[in-house]
Amino acid sequence: MRKWSEEVLRQAGNPHVAALTATATENVNSFVFDMGPRPGSALELEFDSTYPGCGEPGVLVGLSLDPGGVGSMVRLPDSLPDSEAVLMLADQLQEEVLESTRGEPAPPCPGHVHPAKPDMAGGVPSWVCPRDGKLLRSILPPGFTG
Ligand SMILES: [Zn+2]
Repeated sequence: MRKWSEEVLRQAGNPHVAALTATATENVNSFVFDMGPRPGSALELEFDSTYPGCGEPGVLVGLSLDPGGVGSMVRLPDSLPDSEAVLMLADQLQEEVLESTRGEPAPPCPGHVHPAKPDMAGGVPSWVCPRDGKLLRSILPPGFTG
């Protein structure tokens, strides 16, 4: 999961990452009440394991691009197929990256001013042009193993 995240970030222009974590948890729906990075340590996550609701095991990917700020959290239940998980990661990590690039498209859509958008193309999570739907490339390179 972490490798997928790193690959997605690399494709989204290799932003400076303050913290990137992938944490397996018994319940991805548990309430995250503290996800600020601590000095000298990786992004720290705390969960309320008593949070009511359906307990769904999975992985929480936390990304922070700002050393002093909070980041975002992607919830990936184990029940999610790998290709869907990659798509969700790309979508949410890209959103976080775009917030930090001040309008700079990441990753750029060749010949256009907008960024490429993650979408499913023939069952493969891919970067596509949001305007004409043109397939640019798969999000994970062929043969990539996470
Ligand atoms: Zn385009």
